[in-house]
Amino acid sequence: MQTSINPATGAVIQTYPIHTQAQVQQAIDRAHECFLKWKKIPLAKRSDHLRKVAQVLLAKKAEYGRIISEEMGKTLKEAIAEVEKCASCANYFADNGENFLADDIIATEYRKSYVTFQPLGIVFGVMPWNFPFWQVLRFALPTLMAGNVGLLKHASNTPGCALAIESAFREAGLPDGAFQALLIPASRVEEVISNPKVIAVTLTGSTPAGKSIASLSGKYLKKTVLELGGSDAHVVLADADIEHAIKTIAASRMLNCGQSCISAKRLIVAESLKKRFENGIVEIFSKQKLGNPLEEATTVGPMARADLRDELHDQVQRSIKAGGRCLLGGKIPKGKGAFYPLTVLTDVKKGTPAYTEEIFGPVAVIISAKDEEEAIAIANDSVYGLGGAVYTKDIARGEKIARERIESGCCFVNMMVRSDQRLPFGGIKESGYGRELSAYGIHEFINIKSIIVA
Ligand code: NAP
Repeated sequence: MQTSINPATGAVIQTYPIHTQAQVQQAIDRAHECFLKWKKIPLAKRSDHLRKVAQVLLAKKAEYGRIISEEMGKTLKEAIAEVEKCASCANYFADNGENFLADDIIATEYRKSYVTFQPLGIVFGVMPWNFPFWQVLRFALPTLMAGNVGLLKHASNTPGCALAIESAFREAGLPDGAFQALLIPASRVEEVISNPKVIAVTLTGSTPAGKSIASLSGKYLKKTVLELGGSDAHVVLADADIEHAIKTIAASRMLNCGQSCISAKRLIVAESLKKRFENGIVEIFSKQKLGNPLEEATTVGPMARADLRDELHDQVQRSIKAGGRCLLGGKIPKGKGAFYPLTVLTDVKKGTPAYTEEIFGPVAVIISAKDEEEAIAIANDSVYGLGGAVYTKDIARGEKIARERIESGCCFVNMMVRSDQRLPFGGIKESGYGRELSAYGIHEFINIKSIIVA
């Protein structure tokens, strides 16, 4: 059984039977049959399907938003915004897919030479609970636009979201088998990856899960994209607009109750600004209302699961024991639900959990740096390389640091890191490999085929 539990109350929402081996095989066969027809559908028609998906998502955003909020705890406002972002992504690939997939003519001495982009088959997505619609749609929409079909293994705590997404595709009129959700545990992904009809695997999740998927993909020689954990450094230089940095970083760290791969996780602040920065973050965090995510007044909901909350608390406690100072929060509140208070740690020491591990919750981790060189060295002193940000009034200096010095898949100047369908998204180092979104993302799971006509 997979069980949806409301993290705000601990109450069971619904239980779902796990799919049997036979059901998984049937789903793969259905997906493959669908692929054989879907790949022949002209691009303009596939775009129409994607536009219909966008319409369904927008028409039902309140319903889907509620499913998301109840199942993983983000505020209803954030959940609805997530569904809207998915609709916008569907329209984006509908508008641009044809162009991204158009033949690329190469000038040679031959009569004709060009690159064509051909679909390959079933793409298997193993997805996390933290943005339970966005992460799934982010892989599924370009996959479908490219003429492939999608199979989903969602996180075990979000089966309701998995089935809701499947039904959205059905309601949008996509053919049977174009997108299906499999309710299976992580221990059964090999069953799918090993199937010869499955051509690729894309995982968004933790680094340990990535390593496990990468080894299975190696065993069966399947192409992979891995979108893994992160510990983004936000470097606040001495010449930063400090009030802007405080506001932006606090918002980034609170979004989704801090459970975002690109949340501002390590806040590396010039010594001269440290006191104001600490006070500013404490001030903003103190004003938040923790509570039921369905209530309008709530600004931060519970974490997605009690075990994740307990793990986070353990990281916080170990960091404090190792010399970090807790300026706010740090105590599990009494009562029901997987709540964790907005917490501020400062003077965090090298080698302690908050410095080296991914802190996946509403905890600001402040580390001070004596100058730009030290700040950059700390930023890069991580196994992760997903996103990053630099705050400075000197735009050219910020851009140079972002472009040349920070080791990450993206780095922004004077703004929070966010995914944007027009730009590729992904990491380096233990944050994974491959890219999602934009033209780069749609080209991950297609045959980039060279044609020469002599
Ligand atoms: P997770 O525990 O790794 O789970 C993600 C998915 O992988 C779930 O479907 C999970 O299934 C499955 N899984 C877990 N262990 C596996 C294994 N050994 N083999 C195969 N599949 C496995 O991660 P999470 O707690 O859901 O999500 C949080 C993590 O995702 C964080 O590290 C976050 O930074 C990362 N993330 C990265 C991005 C990005 O774009 N780079 C975006 C969002 C989140 P079960 O639920 O059944 O265990």
